[in-house]
Amino acid sequence: MKGSVVPTVLTLAILLALAGCRKPGGRAHERNWPVMGTVASLTVRGADTATAARLTTIAQETFDVFNVRFSLYIPDSELSRLNAAGTNGFAISAGMHEMLEICRRYHALTGGTFDPTVAPAVQHWGFSGGDKPAAVPEPDTLAALRSRIGFQHVQFDTDQARFAVPDMRLDVGGIAKGVAIDRAFERLAAAYDGPLLLNLGGEMRVQGRPEPARPWRIGVRNPFARDTIIGVLELPSGMATATSGNYERFVTLDGTRYSHIIDPRTAAPATGMAGVTVLCADSTVADALSTALFVLGLEAGGRLAARLDTVEALFVPDRQPLQIHATEGLLPYFTPEPEWREALQVIVE
Ligand code: AMP
Ligand code: MG
Repeated sequence: MKGSVVPTVLTLAILLALAGCRKPGGRAHERNWPVMGTVASLTVRGADTATAARLTTIAQETFDVFNVRFSLYIPDSELSRLNAAGTNGFAISAGMHEMLEICRRYHALTGGTFDPTVAPAVQHWGFSGGDKPAAVPEPDTLAALRSRIGFQHVQFDTDQARFAVPDMRLDVGGIAKGVAIDRAFERLAAAYDGPLLLNLGGEMRVQGRPEPARPWRIGVRNPFARDTIIGVLELPSGMATATSGNYERFVTLDGTRYSHIIDPRTAAPATGMAGVTVLCADSTVADALSTALFVLGLEAGGRLAARLDTVEALFVPDRQPLQIHATEGLLPYFTPEPEWREALQVIVE
Protein backbone atom coordinates (compact mmCIF):
# COMPACT_ATOMS: atom_id res chain seq x y z
CA MET A 1 0.00 0.00 0.00
CA LYS A 2 2.65 2.41 1.14
CA GLY A 3 4.67 1.73 -1.96
CA SER A 4 1.84 2.84 -4.22
CA VAL A 5 1.15 6.07 -2.32
CA VAL A 6 4.60 7.56 -2.93
CA PRO A 7 4.39 7.37 -6.74
CA THR A 8 0.85 8.73 -6.62
CA VAL A 9 1.96 11.75 -4.58
CA LEU A 10 4.95 12.22 -6.85
CA THR A 11 2.80 11.89 -9.97
CA LEU A 12 0.39 14.43 -8.56
CA ALA A 13 3.23 16.84 -7.78
CA ILE A 14 4.56 16.50 -11.31
CA LEU A 15 1.11 17.00 -12.81
CA LEU A 16 0.61 20.14 -10.72
CA ALA A 17 4.00 21.43 -11.80
CA LEU A 18 3.14 20.77 -15.43
CA ALA A 19 -0.24 22.42 -15.00
CA GLY A 20 1.59 25.41 -13.54
CA CYS A 21 3.96 25.50 -16.49
CA ARG A 22 1.20 25.08 -19.03
CA LYS A 23 -0.79 27.94 -17.53
CA PRO A 24 -0.89 30.80 -20.07
CA GLY A 25 1.40 33.49 -18.80
CA GLY A 26 3.94 30.92 -17.67
CA ARG A 27 7.58 31.14 -18.60
CA ALA A 28 8.38 32.46 -22.08
CA HIS A 29 10.99 30.82 -24.26
CA GLU A 30 12.20 32.84 -27.21
CA ARG A 31 14.71 31.76 -29.86
CA ASN A 32 15.97 33.84 -32.79
CA TRP A 33 17.89 32.54 -35.78
CA PRO A 34 18.88 33.78 -39.24
CA VAL A 35 17.18 32.16 -42.23
CA MET A 36 15.78 33.09 -45.68
CA GLY A 37 17.77 36.32 -45.71
CA THR A 38 16.10 37.57 -42.53
CA VAL A 39 15.59 36.67 -38.87
CA ALA A 40 13.07 34.14 -37.57
CA SER A 41 11.86 33.86 -34.00
CA LEU A 42 9.61 31.56 -32.05
CA THR A 43 8.15 32.60 -28.69
CA VAL A 44 6.52 29.82 -26.68
CA ARG A 45 4.70 30.38 -23.40
CA GLY A 46 3.91 27.83 -20.74
CA ALA A 47 6.12 25.04 -22.06
CA ASP A 48 9.14 23.40 -20.47
CA THR A 49 12.57 24.00 -22.00
CA ALA A 50 12.65 20.66 -23.82
CA THR A 51 9.26 21.27 -25.45
CA ALA A 52 10.28 24.79 -26.50
CA ALA A 53 13.48 23.41 -28.02
CA ARG A 54 11.56 20.71 -29.88
CA LEU A 55 9.12 23.30 -31.28
CA THR A 56 12.01 25.53 -32.35
CA THR A 57 13.54 22.60 -34.23
CA ILE A 58 10.23 22.05 -36.05
CA ALA A 59 10.16 25.70 -37.19
CA GLN A 60 13.84 25.65 -38.15
CA GLU A 61 13.49 22.49 -40.22
CA THR A 62 10.45 23.84 -42.05
CA PHE A 63 12.11 27.17 -42.87
CA ASP A 64 15.29 25.41 -44.01
CA VAL A 65 13.28 23.41 -46.55
CA PHE A 66 11.87 26.65 -47.98
CA ASN A 67 15.27 28.29 -48.06
CA VAL A 68 16.88 25.42 -49.94
CA ARG A 69 13.99 25.18 -52.41
CA PHE A 70 13.22 28.83 -53.16
CA SER A 71 16.38 30.88 -52.53
CA LEU A 72 17.70 32.86 -55.51
CA TYR A 73 21.04 33.16 -53.72
CA ILE A 74 21.60 29.39 -53.81
CA PRO A 75 22.59 28.62 -57.44
CA ASP A 76 21.31 25.05 -57.31
CA SER A 77 18.10 25.74 -55.37
CA GLU A 78 15.08 24.28 -57.16
CA LEU A 79 13.88 27.79 -58.05
CA SER A 80 17.29 28.79 -59.46
CA ARG A 81 17.31 25.66 -61.61
CA LEU A 82 13.72 26.28 -62.80
CA ASN A 83 14.71 29.85 -63.73
CA ALA A 84 17.78 28.57 -65.59
CA ALA A 85 15.70 26.00 -67.51
CA GLY A 86 13.36 28.80 -68.68
CA THR A 87 11.48 27.84 -71.82
CA ASN A 88 13.00 24.33 -71.86
CA GLY A 89 10.83 22.99 -69.08
CA PHE A 90 11.84 21.54 -65.75
CA ALA A 91 10.66 18.64 -63.54
CA ILE A 92 9.27 20.17 -60.32
CA SER A 93 8.75 18.88 -56.78
CA ALA A 94 5.35 18.74 -55.06
CA GLY A 95 6.46 21.73 -52.94
CA MET A 96 7.24 23.79 -56.05
CA HIS A 97 3.91 22.82 -57.59
CA GLU A 98 2.11 23.95 -54.45
CA MET A 99 3.96 27.29 -54.53
CA LEU A 100 3.09 27.85 -58.20
CA GLU A 101 -0.59 27.08 -57.51
CA ILE A 102 -0.59 29.57 -54.64
CA CYS A 103 1.05 32.21 -56.86
CA ARG A 104 -1.54 31.62 -59.59
CA ARG A 105 -4.37 32.05 -57.07
CA TYR A 106 -3.12 35.40 -55.69
CA HIS A 107 -2.05 36.68 -59.11
CA ALA A 108 -5.69 36.18 -60.18
CA LEU A 109 -7.21 37.55 -56.94
CA THR A 110 -5.15 40.75 -57.08
CA GLY A 111 -5.71 41.58 -60.75
CA GLY A 112 -2.13 40.63 -61.54
CA THR A 113 -0.52 43.05 -59.07
CA PHE A 114 0.89 40.14 -57.08
CA ASP A 115 3.21 38.65 -59.69
CA PRO A 116 6.40 36.72 -58.84
CA THR A 117 7.59 37.00 -62.46
CA VAL A 118 8.69 40.58 -61.66
CA ALA A 119 12.13 39.03 -60.95
CA PRO A 120 13.93 40.64 -63.96
CA ALA A 121 12.63 44.07 -62.89
CA VAL A 122 13.46 43.44 -59.22
CA GLN A 123 17.05 42.73 -60.26
CA HIS A 124 17.24 45.56 -62.77
CA TRP A 125 16.31 48.04 -60.02
CA GLY A 126 19.11 46.70 -57.85
CA PHE A 127 17.39 44.18 -55.57
CA SER A 128 17.68 40.40 -55.08
CA GLY A 129 21.37 40.45 -55.97
CA GLY A 130 21.12 42.96 -58.85
CA ASP A 131 23.49 45.95 -59.06
CA LYS A 132 22.04 49.36 -58.35
CA PRO A 133 21.24 51.00 -61.75
CA ALA A 134 23.29 54.07 -62.66
CA ALA A 135 20.11 56.01 -63.46
CA VAL A 136 16.35 55.60 -63.66
CA PRO A 137 15.75 53.12 -66.53
CA GLU A 138 14.62 54.55 -69.89
CA PRO A 139 11.06 53.81 -71.13
CA ASP A 140 12.27 51.27 -73.70
CA THR A 141 14.21 49.42 -71.00
CA LEU A 142 11.05 49.25 -68.90
CA ALA A 143 9.06 48.07 -71.93
CA ALA A 144 11.60 45.28 -72.52
CA LEU A 145 11.35 44.28 -68.85
CA ARG A 146 7.53 44.30 -69.03
CA SER A 147 7.60 41.84 -71.94
CA ARG A 148 9.31 39.33 -69.62
CA ILE A 149 6.71 39.75 -66.83
CA GLY A 150 3.38 37.93 -66.51
CA PHE A 151 2.52 34.91 -64.39
CA GLN A 152 0.08 33.80 -67.11
CA HIS A 153 3.20 32.86 -69.12
CA VAL A 154 4.24 30.28 -66.50
CA GLN A 155 2.94 26.92 -67.72
CA PHE A 156 2.91 24.13 -65.19
CA ASP A 157 1.23 20.97 -64.00
CA THR A 158 2.00 18.70 -61.07
CA ASP A 159 5.20 17.38 -62.66
CA GLN A 160 6.81 20.13 -64.71
CA ALA A 161 6.98 23.88 -65.33
CA ARG A 162 8.22 26.05 -68.18
CA PHE A 163 8.10 29.70 -69.20
CA ALA A 164 6.28 30.51 -72.44
CA VAL A 165 8.42 33.64 -72.93
CA PRO A 166 12.25 33.67 -73.05
CA ASP A 167 14.29 35.23 -70.22
CA MET A 168 11.51 35.13 -67.65
CA ARG A 169 12.36 34.42 -64.03
CA LEU A 170 10.48 33.83 -60.79
CA ASP A 171 11.13 35.51 -57.44
CA VAL A 172 8.82 34.23 -54.70
CA GLY A 173 10.15 36.70 -52.11
CA GLY A 174 6.71 38.30 -51.88
CA ILE A 175 5.01 35.15 -50.58
CA ALA A 176 7.53 32.45 -49.57
CA LYS A 177 7.82 33.71 -45.98
CA GLY A 178 4.04 33.56 -45.56
CA VAL A 179 3.76 30.04 -46.93
CA ALA A 180 6.73 28.93 -44.80
CA ILE A 181 5.09 30.36 -41.66
CA ASP A 182 1.84 28.53 -42.40
CA ARG A 183 3.56 25.19 -42.98
CA ALA A 184 5.59 25.57 -39.78
CA PHE A 185 2.56 26.83 -37.85
CA GLU A 186 0.49 23.77 -38.86
CA ARG A 187 3.21 21.48 -37.51
CA LEU A 188 3.64 23.56 -34.33
CA ALA A 189 -0.11 23.60 -33.64
CA ALA A 190 -0.22 19.81 -34.03
CA ALA A 191 2.63 19.43 -31.53
CA TYR A 192 1.60 22.04 -28.94
CA ASP A 193 -1.70 23.69 -28.02
CA GLY A 194 -0.31 26.44 -25.77
CA PRO A 195 0.47 30.07 -26.62
CA LEU A 196 3.08 30.75 -29.28
CA LEU A 197 4.14 33.45 -31.70
CA LEU A 198 6.01 32.56 -34.88
CA ASN A 199 7.80 35.44 -36.61
CA LEU A 200 9.68 35.37 -39.92
CA GLY A 201 11.10 38.73 -40.92
CA GLY A 202 8.26 40.66 -39.25
CA GLU A 203 5.49 38.45 -40.60
CA MET A 204 3.75 36.68 -37.75
CA ARG A 205 1.19 34.08 -36.86
CA VAL A 206 0.05 33.34 -33.30
CA GLN A 207 -1.70 30.71 -31.24
CA GLY A 208 -3.52 31.26 -27.94
CA ARG A 209 -2.83 34.29 -25.77
CA PRO A 210 0.26 35.04 -23.69
CA GLU A 211 -1.88 35.91 -20.63
CA PRO A 212 -5.51 34.95 -19.96
CA ALA A 213 -6.62 38.57 -20.25
CA ARG A 214 -4.14 39.71 -22.87
CA PRO A 215 -3.98 38.73 -26.55
CA TRP A 216 -0.77 38.77 -28.56
CA ARG A 217 -0.03 42.39 -29.46
CA ILE A 218 2.42 43.75 -31.98
CA GLY A 219 3.51 47.28 -32.76
CA VAL A 220 2.92 48.66 -36.26
CA ARG A 221 5.99 50.65 -37.23
CA ASN A 222 5.87 54.28 -38.23
CA PRO A 223 7.34 54.17 -41.78
CA PHE A 224 8.73 57.69 -41.30
CA ALA A 225 10.35 57.15 -37.89
CA ARG A 226 11.19 53.51 -37.64
CA ASP A 227 11.96 53.38 -33.95
CA THR A 228 8.41 54.53 -33.16
CA ILE A 229 5.07 52.86 -33.76
CA ILE A 230 1.79 54.23 -35.11
CA GLY A 231 -0.31 51.80 -33.11
CA VAL A 232 -0.77 48.33 -31.70
CA LEU A 233 -2.38 45.40 -33.49
CA GLU A 234 -3.99 42.58 -31.52
CA LEU A 235 -3.72 39.12 -33.01
CA PRO A 236 -6.50 36.67 -32.09
CA SER A 237 -5.49 33.01 -31.88
CA GLY A 238 -4.65 31.50 -35.26
CA MET A 239 -4.42 34.85 -37.05
CA ALA A 240 -1.54 36.30 -39.04
CA THR A 241 -0.12 39.66 -40.01
CA ALA A 242 2.36 40.88 -42.64
CA THR A 243 3.63 44.32 -43.57
CA SER A 244 5.05 45.54 -46.90
CA GLY A 245 6.96 48.79 -46.70
CA ASN A 246 9.23 51.06 -48.69
CA TYR A 247 11.54 51.77 -45.75
CA GLU A 248 13.50 48.52 -45.33
CA ARG A 249 14.83 47.84 -48.79
CA PHE A 250 15.12 50.67 -51.30
CA VAL A 251 17.54 52.39 -53.70
CA THR A 252 17.90 56.15 -54.05
CA LEU A 253 18.31 57.52 -57.62
CA ASP A 254 18.40 61.25 -58.36
CA GLY A 255 17.23 61.91 -54.81
CA THR A 256 14.09 59.72 -55.15
CA ARG A 257 13.62 56.60 -53.08
CA TYR A 258 12.54 53.46 -54.99
CA SER A 259 11.21 50.44 -53.11
CA HIS A 260 11.84 46.76 -53.81
CA ILE A 261 8.16 46.17 -54.60
CA ILE A 262 7.60 46.33 -58.36
CA ASP A 263 4.39 47.26 -60.10
CA PRO A 264 4.14 44.50 -62.75
CA ARG A 265 2.17 46.88 -65.01
CA THR A 266 5.09 49.32 -65.29
CA ALA A 267 8.16 47.21 -64.33
CA ALA A 268 9.03 50.10 -62.00
CA PRO A 269 8.84 50.29 -58.21
CA ALA A 270 5.35 50.90 -56.87
CA THR A 271 4.81 54.44 -55.62
CA GLY A 272 2.28 56.03 -53.31
CA MET A 273 2.43 53.83 -50.22
CA ALA A 274 4.91 53.89 -47.36
CA GLY A 275 3.51 50.81 -45.65
CA VAL A 276 0.63 48.33 -45.83
CA THR A 277 -0.20 45.97 -42.97
CA VAL A 278 -2.62 43.07 -43.39
CA LEU A 279 -4.45 41.07 -40.73
CA CYS A 280 -6.06 37.80 -41.79
CA ALA A 281 -6.52 34.13 -41.07
CA ASP A 282 -3.21 32.88 -42.43
CA SER A 283 0.24 34.11 -43.37
CA THR A 284 0.06 33.10 -47.04
CA VAL A 285 -2.80 35.50 -47.67
CA ALA A 286 -1.28 38.17 -45.41
CA ASP A 287 2.02 38.06 -47.33
CA ALA A 288 0.54 37.98 -50.85
CA LEU A 289 -2.00 40.67 -50.07
CA SER A 290 0.36 43.07 -48.29
CA THR A 291 2.58 43.06 -51.39
CA ALA A 292 -0.36 43.44 -53.80
CA LEU A 293 -2.10 46.16 -51.76
CA PHE A 294 1.19 48.08 -51.64
CA VAL A 295 1.20 48.01 -55.47
CA LEU A 296 -2.51 48.83 -55.79
CA GLY A 297 -2.32 51.78 -53.40
CA LEU A 298 -4.98 53.35 -51.23
CA GLU A 299 -7.87 53.61 -53.68
CA ALA A 300 -7.80 50.34 -55.60
CA GLY A 301 -6.14 48.48 -52.71
CA GLY A 302 -8.66 49.87 -50.22
CA ARG A 303 -11.50 48.68 -52.46
CA LEU A 304 -10.02 45.17 -52.78
CA ALA A 305 -9.36 44.88 -49.02
CA ALA A 306 -12.86 46.12 -48.20
CA ARG A 307 -14.38 43.62 -50.66
CA LEU A 308 -12.50 40.60 -49.26
CA ASP A 309 -14.31 39.50 -46.08
CA THR A 310 -11.33 37.67 -44.67
CA VAL A 311 -8.74 40.43 -45.22
CA GLU A 312 -8.31 43.52 -43.04
CA ALA A 313 -5.73 46.12 -43.95
CA LEU A 314 -4.07 49.31 -42.83
CA PHE A 315 -2.54 51.70 -45.38
CA VAL A 316 0.00 54.45 -44.67
CA PRO A 317 0.40 56.65 -47.78
CA ASP A 318 3.87 57.92 -48.64
CA ARG A 319 3.11 61.56 -47.89
CA GLN A 320 3.01 64.02 -45.02
CA PRO A 321 1.26 64.62 -42.71
CA LEU A 322 1.03 60.96 -41.78
CA GLN A 323 -2.34 59.33 -42.52
CA ILE A 324 -3.58 55.91 -41.49
CA HIS A 325 -6.41 54.35 -43.49
CA ALA A 326 -7.94 51.15 -42.09
CA THR A 327 -10.71 48.83 -43.24
CA GLU A 328 -13.64 48.86 -40.86
CA GLY A 329 -13.04 45.28 -39.78
CA LEU A 330 -9.55 46.16 -38.57
CA LEU A 331 -10.75 48.72 -36.02
CA PRO A 332 -11.55 46.25 -33.19
CA TYR A 333 -7.96 44.99 -33.41
CA PHE A 334 -6.03 48.21 -33.92
CA THR A 335 -5.32 50.90 -31.34
CA PRO A 336 -3.50 53.94 -32.71
CA GLU A 337 -0.95 55.64 -30.50
CA PRO A 338 -2.58 58.72 -28.88
CA GLU A 339 -0.66 61.11 -31.16
CA TRP A 340 -1.96 59.35 -34.30
CA ARG A 341 -5.61 59.00 -33.25
CA GLU A 342 -6.62 61.96 -35.41
CA ALA A 343 -4.68 60.52 -38.35
CA LEU A 344 -6.84 57.36 -38.49
CA GLN A 345 -9.53 57.21 -41.18
CA VAL A 346 -11.88 54.36 -42.03
CA ILE A 347 -11.96 53.07 -45.61
CA VAL A 348 -15.52 53.06 -46.92
CA GLU A 349 -16.22 50.67 -49.79
P1 AMP B 1 7.06 41.75 -49.45
O1 AMP B 1 8.11 42.29 -48.55
O2 AMP B 1 6.34 40.54 -48.95
O3 AMP B 1 6.10 42.79 -49.92
O4 AMP B 1 7.81 41.17 -50.73
C1 AMP B 1 8.65 41.96 -51.51
C2 AMP B 1 9.49 41.04 -52.36
O5 AMP B 1 8.64 40.35 -53.27
C3 AMP B 1 10.49 41.81 -53.22
O6 AMP B 1 11.74 41.90 -52.56
C4 AMP B 1 10.56 40.94 -54.47
O7 AMP B 1 11.42 39.86 -54.23
C5 AMP B 1 9.16 40.41 -54.58
N1 AMP B 1 8.23 41.29 -55.32
C6 AMP B 1 8.40 42.59 -55.68
N2 AMP B 1 7.31 43.06 -56.30
C7 AMP B 1 6.41 42.03 -56.33
C8 AMP B 1 5.10 41.90 -56.87
N3 AMP B 1 4.44 42.91 -57.46
N4 AMP B 1 4.48 40.70 -56.73
C9 AMP B 1 5.11 39.66 -56.13
N5 AMP B 1 6.36 39.73 -55.61
C10 AMP B 1 7.00 40.90 -55.71
MG1 MG C 1 4.45 39.87 -49.25
